[in-house]
Amino acid sequence: MKVASVLIPLPVPEAFDYEAPEGMTLARGDQVAVPLGPRLIRGVVSEVFETTGSNRRLKSVDSRLDDPALPAGVMDFVEWAGRWTLSPPGEMAATALKGLRAPSPRPERKVRRVGDRQPARATPARTGVLEALGERAMAGADLARSAGVSSGVIKGLIDEGVLEIVEIAAEAAFDRPDPDHAPATLNGDQAAAAAALVDGVTGGGFRPFLLDGVTGSGKTEAYLEAIARVLRADPAAQILILLPEIALTQALIERITARFGAAPAEWHSGVAPPRRRQVWEAVVAGRCNIVVGARSALFLPFVNLRLIVVDEEHDSSFKQEEGLVYHGRDLAVARARIEKAAVVLASATPSLETLWNAQAGRYDWLKLGARHGVAVMPDIELLDLRQHTPDPQTWLSQPLRLAVAETLARGEQTLLFLNRRGYAPVVLCRVCGHRLTAPDTDSWLVEHRYTGRLVCHLTGFSMARPKQCPSCGAEDSLVSVGPGVERVEEEVRQLFPEARTAVFSSDTVPDAKSARALIQRMTDGEIDILVATQAAAKGHNFPRLTLVGVVDADLGLRGGDLRAAERTYQLLAQATGRAGRADRPGRAILQTWTPEHPVLQALAAGDRDAFVEAEMAEREAAALPPFGRLAAIIVSSENAAAVEKVAADLAQAIPNAERLEVYGPADAPLALVRGRRRKRLLVRADRDVNLQAFLRAWLTRVKIPASVRLTVDVDPYSFL
Ligand SMILES: [Zn+2]
Repeated sequence: MKVASVLIPLPVPEAFDYEAPEGMTLARGDQVAVPLGPRLIRGVVSEVFETTGSNRRLKSVDSRLDDPALPAGVMDFVEWAGRWTLSPPGEMAATALKGLRAPSPRPERKVRRVGDRQPARATPARTGVLEALGERAMAGADLARSAGVSSGVIKGLIDEGVLEIVEIAAEAAFDRPDPDHAPATLNGDQAAAAAALVDGVTGGGFRPFLLDGVTGSGKTEAYLEAIARVLRADPAAQILILLPEIALTQALIERITARFGAAPAEWHSGVAPPRRRQVWEAVVAGRCNIVVGARSALFLPFVNLRLIVVDEEHDSSFKQEEGLVYHGRDLAVARARIEKAAVVLASATPSLETLWNAQAGRYDWLKLGARHGVAVMPDIELLDLRQHTPDPQTWLSQPLRLAVAETLARGEQTLLFLNRRGYAPVVLCRVCGHRLTAPDTDSWLVEHRYTGRLVCHLTGFSMARPKQCPSCGAEDSLVSVGPGVERVEEEVRQLFPEARTAVFSSDTVPDAKSARALIQRMTDGEIDILVATQAAAKGHNFPRLTLVGVVDADLGLRGGDLRAAERTYQLLAQATGRAGRADRPGRAILQTWTPEHPVLQALAAGDRDAFVEAEMAEREAAALPPFGRLAAIIVSSENAAAVEKVAADLAQAIPNAERLEVYGPADAPLALVRGRRRKRLLVRADRDVNLQAFLRAWLTRVKIPASVRLTVDVDPYSFL
């Protein structure tokens, strides 16, 4: 008997076996309908094998679907990713099918002649229609317009059988990129990096690269040249470029279109579902060469993937924490290895993991030193707030105010950076000291003045600002503590009423379109002072921007998570890298209460190596990533007793292992989220320990009731 193992989109650890009926040809990657309980569901065949004398009674595969089979590389990838992240492989496969599950674009309806049939009565209007149409098929409205008649004339001809309506399936055309359309002129470094990339990417086989260069050094030019060479070597090659933020895609798409004379396909949550389906179908048919997308584009069914670029590879947005938990950068490297393709990790501030791989020679390390053109790195000054303390209820020190005024007077732009949304991060009662929190979550409510609401940034819960303290009932006792971007903008407006100001945060620019509009206004010089969160610190190029003020450089250094210092360094390097990109020198001022902190010292000295060395030494001493490995297990439920029970059972069931420790169970730092109690266990292992095998062995020992959710996060980034 023939058996097909089928991956189905359910939280089960393995494929389900079905009998392959006589006469049905099945192969790995085929899409099938299989019975599950009373209904049929879609699955993907992972394996077909012969078995003899099995006494198991297997159900039969119902039918093979005529949808495209998933290519071998995608199958290998989803199975590997499932094992690596301890996620159900069927759910990984379902992710790869998402584009196909989107609704089809509506077919286009057009009219055309039926043979050479003539109208019974030839009026001038009817003759005009037939002449305008000729041999073509046209949309009815277009035809009426070009013949200068009403739609009734066309309808009459259809009724008479002279014209007919045809439906044409909307198949998106993706123009072939032309590698020689508009080559860039590269400087020495860029040309050398591009040449090295080219040798690697066209040499065949898996090759990882770190493309390391300060903001503005021309990383994009270098990898676009590498893409050009890939396309010259193989016009059918497919290339995937991953970006951390949708807001960055438009600028890159325009550059690619200008460079290759053809727009790439776009893949992220902002793309309409019918369009996503077209991209999916074009990718699996090999009709689409370049895709620019978010991390989920890694699951697209490429058939000839030759190169993956992960731009801004250090960005923590590549880590997906809801649903399937995975890191887009790590999975990109895995997909490239499976496809025997090249992968380029590009950044001005590479992650410690990537630098560690580059230092050890596992990744080819390409450095772009000088900034492109004449621009130089900005001067970075640490401004000691102990000596220049702002007035009460204000956040900008005197020297920073002066610098903004000077910049305004020169007609140049200022970016004030504060990575905090809203008006005030905390609202408290001055009578009883109560801090307002969300009712079902342990996080403070953030005041938003634009919307007049108090918002939980974790769950999105919001409420109107109450008149009375919910704890002691005192009237008008609530005060806003600390600044968010809205509050800094309020101060700026009072100080510089003539200046044109704007706020850039996920509240003021909720989608890619509004982000694009604001970025354009900034680029066009229509904004003098932009107050922004990290959303504006990434990848944008504002030629008139010459001053960056970091309102609170200490933010992010506080708090105990593993990557706090690294993230702060990256963010500040990116934010200050915004200044002075064109021909004007830039200046960056960092307000801090702790100018002696090594991260800030390294930043002020422009000394990335010093920062990396200090941070690596600390991680190595504690055997933390990249020198060791971590995994978090979060147990959560609305039933607090069930959480306690499962956490205790897990603690009892820890397998013996060497060079590995388990911490916890402990209350997660946010012990209550959306009404669910949360407990956390943290595993630290040496790098040579098979962490996934340990976790699998451990988790099979404990029975998890249906009321409890267990989330495994391999290599956690968020320690909430
Ligand atoms: Zn109170």
